Amino acid sequence: METFRPPVIPLCEPNLNGHEKQYMAEAVDSNWLSGGSFLRRFEQQLADYTGVAHAIGVCNGTSALQVALTLAGVEKGDLVLVPDLTFVATANAVKYLGAKPVMIDVDARTWLMDLDLLQSFLQNETYQNNAGCFHRESGRRIKAVVPVHLLGNVCEMEQLNGIAKQFALAVVEDAACSLGSFQNGRHSGTTGLLGTMSFNSNKIITTAGGGAILTQSGLLAKRARHLITQAKSHATEYIHDALGYNFRLVNPLAAIGCAQMEQLPDFLQRKKEVAAHYREAFADYEVTFQQLTPGTDSNYWHSAMLVNESRSLIAALTAENIEARPLWTPIHELPVFREDLYITHNSVASEVSRRGIMLPCSTSITDDQLQRVSQVIGSFLNVTIKN
Ligand SMILES: *Cc1c(COP(=O)(O)O)cnc(C)c1O
Repeated sequence: METFRPPVIPLCEPNLNGHEKQYMAEAVDSNWLSGGSFLRRFEQQLADYTGVAHAIGVCNGTSALQVALTLAGVEKGDLVLVPDLTFVATANAVKYLGAKPVMIDVDARTWLMDLDLLQSFLQNETYQNNAGCFHRESGRRIKAVVPVHLLGNVCEMEQLNGIAKQFALAVVEDAACSLGSFQNGRHSGTTGLLGTMSFNSNKIITTAGGGAILTQSGLLAKRARHLITQAKSHATEYIHDALGYNFRLVNPLAAIGCAQMEQLPDFLQRKKEVAAHYREAFADYEVTFQQLTPGTDSNYWHSAMLVNESRSLIAALTAENIEARPLWTPIHELPVFREDLYITHNSVASEVSRRGIMLPCSTSITDDQLQRVSQVIGSFLNVTIKN
């Protein structure tokens, strides 16, 4: 039997070189496992860092989105606008509520939801009355829009919030991969009604599995805590006043999060260096990088680029024991969403996905490893350009 050989240079691995073990042991020693002081401390760290009034720990980013959409008033049968290019969880969370995602194509430069396309769809294909905004053809209510700050690039929130206001839509920001990304000085996930984050092990900080809901509203924060705690409405009796969930983040995992937050500035610095390395290394080649939106200070969570023959390049890297992956498959191409509405002019997300490659970008990657990755890519590009 062949033994599994781990990639020598992994795609994006967690970096646990701070106080993770110590804090987790303290959490176990305290005998507080479900809730506890590390959970409260982690939530405070997140709120302080992002400048939001309330941060609520949740068991993962997908569940955080599901709860945020519920709090935004999304109901069975509603339509919710999502970008076509995102991780599947964004659209899944909509489906969990019995609502239907509408995939809006992305911008070719930023790879984020195309706001001009969003505006023209809403202008041309909806009407409004006292009950909200309705899709003319299906008669369904459009309740919310979910901008995704893909790979750390922040959707133009002033424009998006303006459009949402014009059409009476709630804004739930999927900031799963944008902790540390700011736009005009404001942290991603804090200017919509609600924002959600993920601390899965490949994200910029991790709690193994975890997520958070961000909001400026004390009322929504209270309702979020209530919903993720089985909608328990009495301190000792088992009284539950709504259909709640068991979606809390647990104390030992929050302890890992506390240690990770201490290292966030270092992680951001390294991610930036890694992104700059790739941009410099391939400046003279026919490759395309994600263009940041105006005013955005990205966390550069994941380095990626577009290149012809991306799948052959991935194979070439794999052969050298370097892990690389395609960008996400557009939601409208996935079987689960085939019946759902897809709004596009020229299928940009499909093109970005077809040519996309996610590059190794762990915060622990060494300069030598970066050199090796770009040498392999460089020789691949030299050959394919000559062809
Ligand atoms: C990671 C991610 C999620 C899901 O978060 P989990 O914690 O894995 O559930 C959702 N949306 C986007 C854009 C993500 O990158």
